[in-house]
Amino acid sequence: MSNCELCGRNGELVLAFVEGAKFNVCGSCSKYGKVVQKAKSEFVLNKHESKFVDEFSENIVSDYNLLIKSAREKMNLSQKELALKLNERESVISSCESGAMKPGIELARKIGKFLNIRLVIKEKIAEFAKKKSSLGGTLTIGDIIKK
Ligand SMILES: [Zn+2]
Repeated sequence: MSNCELCGRNGELVLAFVEGAKFNVCGSCSKYGKVVQKAKSEFVLNKHESKFVDEFSENIVSDYNLLIKSAREKMNLSQKELALKLNERESVISSCESGAMKPGIELARKIGKFLNIRLVIKEKIAEFAKKKSSLGGTLTIGDIIKK
């Protein structure tokens, strides 16, 4: 048997977080730890949610310039012709193909749809998604002890 690190009482101890630090505390002191931990996890959760509205992030594939160029050439279109079909400037197409300009998501979708290539990929933010689901419910003292 050891003593509660907060009140010094002898008895069954549980691990609790009190003001960010781990303590071995007795049953009555663990109530205090639970409150602190809950407030803290909610703060972290909100921070993630404001940063990542979705569990997915849309990105342009890294070899977009090569994909556009080869797909365009397969269709026997010049940069100017492709630009006209997409209602874009020729300089936009040439910049994308040289890699000088990374198209935005909307433009990449438009080009990809016309050339039948995939330029936009959805990437799962696995790390944050996992954290989000584990913090999904209200954290109880039981959850803290399990960890
Ligand atoms: Zn205590």
